[in-house]
Amino acid sequence: MDVLVLNSGSSSLKYAIIDSKTGLRRGAGLAERLGTPDATLRVGAVSMPLPDGSLHAALSHALGSAPGQFQAIGHRVVHGGNTFTQAARITAEVVAAITTCVRLAPLHNPANLAGIAVAQKMFPAIPQVAVFDTAFHQSMPAVAYRYAIPSAWYHEFGVRRYGFHGTSHRFVAQRAAEILGQPVTSLRLVTAHLGNGCSACAIRDGISVDTTMGLTPLEGLVMGTRSGDLDPGIIPYLMQSTGHSAQQISDDLNQRSGLLGLSEHSNDMRILGAAAAAGDAKATLAIAVFCYRLAKSIAALAVPLGRLDAVVFTGGIGEHSVEVRAKTLALLGIIGFAEDPVANAQHGILTNGMITTAGRALVIATDEELMIARDTADLLSPPA
Ligand code: ADP
Repeated sequence: MDVLVLNSGSSSLKYAIIDSKTGLRRGAGLAERLGTPDATLRVGAVSMPLPDGSLHAALSHALGSAPGQFQAIGHRVVHGGNTFTQAARITAEVVAAITTCVRLAPLHNPANLAGIAVAQKMFPAIPQVAVFDTAFHQSMPAVAYRYAIPSAWYHEFGVRRYGFHGTSHRFVAQRAAEILGQPVTSLRLVTAHLGNGCSACAIRDGISVDTTMGLTPLEGLVMGTRSGDLDPGIIPYLMQSTGHSAQQISDDLNQRSGLLGLSEHSNDMRILGAAAAAGDAKATLAIAVFCYRLAKSIAALAVPLGRLDAVVFTGGIGEHSVEVRAKTLALLGIIGFAEDPVANAQHGILTNGMITTAGRALVIATDEELMIARDTADLLSPPA
């Protein structure tokens, strides 16, 4: 089945038409700065201005007037709350349920809903499916998802850990099982998705049992511009010390922290790697904190697994940063890992992804769009 996969952000739209069986891309592109006069659509190496920079204009330009290119549409939806444990065919009820999750993801879900609305208007006859970042983690037990806070906050406001990046964690877990030649249902894995956002996940027998992100994608690992874990006492302390509002502090933690906050230079691991190599002490510290926190989290996620069969590195940093993997694996020596420096330098290309001489760590390229296409196809015409 050819599936149009849509990832609709607050000012961007990523799309791809994917054969759900083979993974072949029949077309793909990215519209950026939507809603501004500088909106553009990039298809391959070609970039064109979008004078009417609306989501609708972006989709019409992207898909031209050639219907019949795809038989279904799969939407990435960030927050499915407690409601969605797997992908769902989009109906009025499903849209209403996604809308009730807006309070949990005020930046993401409204943009995802806008994408759904435009696609429904443009392609009313084509079935559409929502695939949730949170759904994979709905299998977490209460010990993993409850915070030790007044229970009323959980019952009245849904304050619990949800986790994100589920589509990516699930995809690389399946690939790891293929590579290791074992069913995913007999493997105990920690997967580390390290992109601009970063999270790690403990996957036991194919099921998420714990993850580092929480109520929001701010918890857990150090990220490009997000702080990850911090003492919650810091927030009232800073509000009192600076007079800033909760919103200002939240913006600082989401947009001016992480690698960017520590390095005072960049949120981009490539730039920081080059700066550190040239002797920049702040970039060196930023990378060191990133790897230290990642290694601590991976070791902690071994607890719910009871046994750790393999660690998987994925996402832009996980797939490409030799330095981050090397530093992280060195710290994981205590639980039996030893880097294979040659294989790591080659990103595991010649070793089926494997980059260790002791313990098993793999580099696996993620493909969230293909996973969304597969989920969409499976939901609409379940495999026999
Ligand atoms: P997103 O989460 O937005 O999908 P990506 O998965 O593409 O982002 O990851 C972006 C991160 O990957 C950036 O920090 C970028 O610097 C890093 N990255 C990409 N290529 C490399 C590379 N060759 N070496 C080190 N880091 C890289």
